[in-house]
Amino acid sequence: MSGHHHDHDHTHDNHYTPIEARVKALETLMVEKGYVDPSALDAIVETYETKVGPRNGARIVARAWTDPAYAERLKADGTAAVAEMGYGGRGGEHIVACFNTPEEHNLIVCTLCSCYPWPVLGLPPVWYKSPPYRAKAVIDPRGTLADFGVSLPEGQRIRVWDSTAETRFLVIPMRPAGTEGWSEEKLASIVSRDSMIGTGLPRIEDAVEDAR
Ligand code: FE
Repeated sequence: MSGHHHDHDHTHDNHYTPIEARVKALETLMVEKGYVDPSALDAIVETYETKVGPRNGARIVARAWTDPAYAERLKADGTAAVAEMGYGGRGGEHIVACFNTPEEHNLIVCTLCSCYPWPVLGLPPVWYKSPPYRAKAVIDPRGTLADFGVSLPEGQRIRVWDSTAETRFLVIPMRPAGTEGWSEEKLASIVSRDSMIGTGLPRIEDAVEDAR
């Protein structure tokens, strides 16, 4: 669900910020010298963006859906419950799990920069780091969700959590109806990265029978 549009002036592909220009210059140099293979670099970034990171979080959510005792531990101490599953380290020193309920939907932002729960979600998507998302998420969370094609019931509040260097948040979406009897693995396959940021919801039509 990263293909949404904000109505703002965005950075065009041919206009790099200073840091992007430096990264690009370094990358070009290393490719020209034959130190790195650009397709390998792309593959690594792609893997961390879409596979490794979010898959870790999805396993945690699926476990919380199927194991009530684990869900309680996750609620009580996110960092410890995440460590139980073997995840932790940089960007995960203090993780708080925010459980969606019929009354309350949780949305994660970092208004100051781009703090993100790396061990469970991997690299943040570009839009997460963008000033428009960071501003609009707090000013107009419902409008922000609309940008992502998500509309919640009127009566469901939206609680916005502002990440910091110290504390990173992970949204635990509600388990969708129609998933009774599913394996943890199949459940994990419907837990998208965006559903763990709060800008998406799990969709049962995304289910993969053998996600491993
Ligand atoms: Fe930040």
